[in-house]
Amino acid sequence: MKKLALHWKILIGMALGVVFALIMVNFDFGKEFIKDWIKPFGTIFINSLKLIAIPLILAALIKGVSDLKDISKLSRMGGRTIIIYIITTVIAVSIGLVLVNIVNPGNSISDKTRTELVDGYSDNTTKYKEEASKQKESGPLQALIDLVPQNIFDAATSNRNMLQVIFFAVFFGIGLILIPEEKVKTVKSFFDGFNEVILKMVDLIMLAAPYGVFALLAALIAESPSVDLFKALAWYALTVILGLALMIVIYNILVFIFTKKRPSFFMKAISPAQLLAFSTSSSAATLPVTMERVTEHIGVEEEVASFVLPIGATINMDGTSLYQAVAAVFIAQAFGMDLSFGTQLGIIATATLASIGSAAVPGAGMVMLVGVLGYAGIPEAGLALIFAVDRPLDMCRTVVNVTGDASVSMLVAKSVGKLGTPKQKNWDDNYEVSKN
Ligand code: ASP
Repeated sequence: MKKLALHWKILIGMALGVVFALIMVNFDFGKEFIKDWIKPFGTIFINSLKLIAIPLILAALIKGVSDLKDISKLSRMGGRTIIIYIITTVIAVSIGLVLVNIVNPGNSISDKTRTELVDGYSDNTTKYKEEASKQKESGPLQALIDLVPQNIFDAATSNRNMLQVIFFAVFFGIGLILIPEEKVKTVKSFFDGFNEVILKMVDLIMLAAPYGVFALLAALIAESPSVDLFKALAWYALTVILGLALMIVIYNILVFIFTKKRPSFFMKAISPAQLLAFSTSSSAATLPVTMERVTEHIGVEEEVASFVLPIGATINMDGTSLYQAVAAVFIAQAFGMDLSFGTQLGIIATATLASIGSAAVPGAGMVMLVGVLGYAGIPEAGLALIFAVDRPLDMCRTVVNVTGDASVSMLVAKSVGKLGTPKQKNWDDNYEVSKN
């Protein structure tokens, strides 16, 4: 019998997780049961993905950069990557702003609901504000300073330092290129082999993906706030989701125009990564899978994917920037503020920077939203308004973040002549653990 494709297995796992939790919450012991006996498996699954993120970046980038064999190729690819990332982010913020001004979701919030939401979630707001103010205390060039680690082992101990690890890996790769090949043969083949092993580990972890997402979604449903709050925020949530859906359409159009790959091909190939992004709310945790899908199933050559994707996972967050723009204007509307055109233009710049600064972990976009609100003079207490629906929106924006990275990797690959044919066909997608 033909094996079920991975994305179907993951979807079934997600659906069963939701149904299971909806049944369990009707019993007194249901929530506790899920927390104690189901959620840990979701956590183990995410941990195992995060576990390989740093080794993957190190191995793949060192291999990728040294495979380029020439520094000018690296700078050409780097320049294109950054420019396309910034362009897509600006498009995303602009879409968010246009939509939120058309739909006006903030006007549907009554004074009573606003007070209830602000009171109910003010503790969380304080937590987010504190975290954001820690980041704000630094000077204008802090981001640049943070890019260069003092100690690579220290940097590699936290998934939050991915940019530092990327810096080290690119630097190391450049060193490798500059030394005659025979001298560094062993080092190079060590990283080539290391990279293969990590990719095989991704395959192995993906075997557990359907069970992992079952546990993650069950826990999410069991812990989510009441449905009434969702209703109050329905228009806001719909505006964000509509914008995110538009971004997916835009990626497909860009991919089709520049690479001639059909949307059905692209979406099918990338869907397991999208489903994982949805379940984990973390582009960093999804990175190993995005990398595998893009190289094996889309045909982006590894030297491009290993450069473009880890950088994208940390700085390119189109979904997050779109959400930040919508959220900022929504909060302003709910508080009866009228934002001038100039302020809204400023939101494009601040949301672009805030999304670049957001870590690729759940909820990071909300921390950085504090900066956007601060810039536009919107009350930070408004964070409490959107808190109730933040997690589901985080899941959706992470899908867009990951899809954006994947499509940009195709565009860059095409522009440097490195978009080949996929090694694996999508319809034969069963993740057998073979000894190839
Ligand atoms: N969860 C998002 C990501 O990992 C970031 C965010 O918007 O909170 O891409």
